Amino acid sequence: MKVCFVSGKGGVGKSAICASLAYYLRDWVVVDADVDSPTLPLWLGVEWEQIERLKIHRVARVDLSKCVKCGKCDEVCRFGAIERGVVDEVLCEGCGACAAICPTEAISLEKVESGEVRIGRSRYGHRVVGGRTLPGHLGSGKLVSEVKKRAQQFGENQLIDGAPGVSCAAISAITGCNLAFLIAEPSEASLQGLKRVAELCRQLKVPYRVVLNKRGLNPRAEEKIRKEFEVVAEIPFEREVYSYLCRLEPPEPLFPHVKPLLDFLK
Ligand code: SF4
Ligand code: SF4
Repeated sequence: MKVCFVSGKGGVGKSAICASLAYYLRDWVVVDADVDSPTLPLWLGVEWEQIERLKIHRVARVDLSKCVKCGKCDEVCRFGAIERGVVDEVLCEGCGACAAICPTEAISLEKVESGEVRIGRSRYGHRVVGGRTLPGHLGSGKLVSEVKKRAQQFGENQLIDGAPGVSCAAISAITGCNLAFLIAEPSEASLQGLKRVAELCRQLKVPYRVVLNKRGLNPRAEEKIRKEFEVVAEIPFEREVYSYLCRLEPPEPLFPHVKPLLDFLK
């Protein structure tokens, strides 16, 4: 069974809840698919045993000896990543439009190291597989799918901490899961994000359950979420949880509150 934790917006407590459920499921594989912000390993005290760098992202390379400075590449680049043959690799999305338009065939696309897949163990003995984008690169669905591919060798039962939002990294995390826990906090921004990610799950045909985190912070926003969604679990706001993260300790105050979620994994 593959269960992912996703949310419409970041910062709602998704990784802490995933880590807390992992506390009860020590023979499950834990997958950190939030490759732009991999906090799950911090909650679980992961020690990495293997780190593999992957060439996933492509960037434009220009053979300046062929460049006639015509500026056609500037016109076609939607990301403002090239100017008369000079590429800004941080902005370049590797779409290839400049290479297609260049009259002198001066531009080629080259794969560069843009992410890592890491394999290790948590403090509780879980096998953990995680991804991390390298500085200057954005998380991509491809990196997440590489992470999920590696995780598959360690077992069928997986807890997957996905990216927030509805980016391709989030889509990649949710795809193929048997269940998604959608984590929300009591705020308007979270509710709007929740609607988007719920729609995404419907499109991907992945069943979902909504969990309300930080209950007690904003009763009016909580009521709005309850009106629009069936909430299967509510976790009270536990201020001290964040001091656990600062000390790189597991979020123990959440453990009893997430326990009812185990019923959905049968
Ligand atoms: S389109 Fe090609 S030749 Fe023209 S400026 Fe860009 S790299 Fe140079
Ligand atoms: S590959 Fe795409 S994003 Fe990169 S410089 Fe060329 S047109 Fe711009």
